[in-house]
Amino acid sequence: MAYTVSMQCTKCDQQFEQSKKEVEVYKKFDAELPTICPDCRHHRHLIFRNERNIFYNTSHVTGKKIVSMIPPTSPFRVIDQDEWWSDKFDASIYARDYDFNKPFFEQFKDLQKEVPRWARLFVNCENSEFTNNSAEVKDCYLTFSSYESENLYYCTRVFKSNTCIDCMNIKESEYCSRCMDCQKCYNVHYSQSSEGCSDSYFLYDCRNCQNCILSAQLRNKEYCILNKQYEKNEYEKHKKEFLKNLARNKRKIEGEFKELKKTLFYKNLRLINTENSLGDFITGSKGITNGFYVVDCEDCFNVRDCSKCKDCYDNLANEESELCLEVDTSYELYNSKFCTYGVSLRDVTYCEQCFKLEDCFGCIGMKQEKNLILNKKYTKEEYGKMMKRIKEHMLKTGEWGKPFPPHLSPWPYNITTAYGYYPLTKEEALGKGYMWHEEQQEAKHFGKKYEIPIDINDVDESICDKILVCEKTGKNYKVIPQEFKFYKTFNLPIPRISPDQRYKDLLALQPPKKLRDTTCHTCKIPIKTVYPEESGYKVVCEKCYLEKVY
Ligand SMILES: [Zn+2]
Ligand SMILES: [Zn+2]
Repeated sequence: MAYTVSMQCTKCDQQFEQSKKEVEVYKKFDAELPTICPDCRHHRHLIFRNERNIFYNTSHVTGKKIVSMIPPTSPFRVIDQDEWWSDKFDASIYARDYDFNKPFFEQFKDLQKEVPRWARLFVNCENSEFTNNSAEVKDCYLTFSSYESENLYYCTRVFKSNTCIDCMNIKESEYCSRCMDCQKCYNVHYSQSSEGCSDSYFLYDCRNCQNCILSAQLRNKEYCILNKQYEKNEYEKHKKEFLKNLARNKRKIEGEFKELKKTLFYKNLRLINTENSLGDFITGSKGITNGFYVVDCEDCFNVRDCSKCKDCYDNLANEESELCLEVDTSYELYNSKFCTYGVSLRDVTYCEQCFKLEDCFGCIGMKQEKNLILNKKYTKEEYGKMMKRIKEHMLKTGEWGKPFPPHLSPWPYNITTAYGYYPLTKEEALGKGYMWHEEQQEAKHFGKKYEIPIDINDVDESICDKILVCEKTGKNYKVIPQEFKFYKTFNLPIPRISPDQRYKDLLALQPPKKLRDTTCHTCKIPIKTVYPEESGYKVVCEKCYLEKVY
């Protein structure tokens, strides 16, 4: 892609490039060319997404206690998804006339205060009350943004997998724990960026390996420890000791793993079965610019966590969509812009939490309708006329073609996905106009501190009744029976860290979703990479990587 304009971000002052294609795209969507860089745009999208925080709340309609991604302290109303789908719920009762004497975003904010929101977003989920943003999952617990899976606990973005704990961005895997960016793995634990491996622990960038411990960049190997080949018998002996002492030696082992990772040559960008693309962790795609965690997409730029999208620009977590601009957390959208939490929308602008709409503008909580403005129904002709007037009005107010400003996010900053990547203190967040969620004081546990036995063989099911204390944060947490069974089956120690901190630790292993210029460690050609300078990693171009690792 030929770059044409170099710009300075009006938010972070960073220089960024605007391509000819971007200028054309924004023009085609009748949208204003952004003055902030793609990273700041990503940050804004993250503010509109609550990926993994759920709370007990009360249904606005029935008064029933429900599990909700909206905290009870929020000013917004909430209803259960079942209630939302019922014929009894119709958000057109909140419809209003467009007020040409008031900025649009203010009118939208007023609507936000009244229309009850989905408690959670899920499609065809079974026995998985404590999940969100998921589809076709069964028997899952505290699992988010996952689909077509069963028995997942504390997982985020896990697809087509079964019985996994503490995994992130995993595909087609079974019986894995504490894994990230892996696929087709079986009984693999504490591993990263590996594929087709089984019965292994602490792997990094391995392919088709079985029975390996603390190893990296191996291909088709068996019985390796610290990349060294062992005989089967010897390996089994070591493995037994390793598992027995895993809880005691965890920190030492993690340290060794970290050191091992420093000795490697890193491929600058993880582009898998992908053509003509720039970004990291792009699979089965082509024509992607500045994409991160992108699967089966075509001709998109500035996209993150998207799959099966075509011609989508500045999108976060959009799936099976085409021709979308500035869209986040959505599914099956066509020719739509500035939408959040939308499902099956067509020719829709500025809508939130809507389903199956066509030609709509500024709606919240509407389903199966056409020609709506601020939830009010118009005829096709009226809609066309109104939209002309609204455009004129919004050009005057300076709002036309601009995305929702961040203060329209319905989430307190510290429960948005942004918080994990761009942490702010309460004062900073409030100062920027965001809401803040006060964590409820945990009931203090005065009982005798329970010491988790080092050896899993000394643990029985009664541990599920105990209140455990996180070694890192001091927070209380529990082990659920399914988890206990898993650790027992695979002879793994009970975690001494709370699930929330385990998620944070996993997230910290992921390279930033941001490209930087560098040169290949070996051949010195200029390359782009996501690994930060301070990681000290030896980053190489694809050619040099293939020479070294294969
Ligand atoms: Zn910026
Ligand atoms: Zn090179």
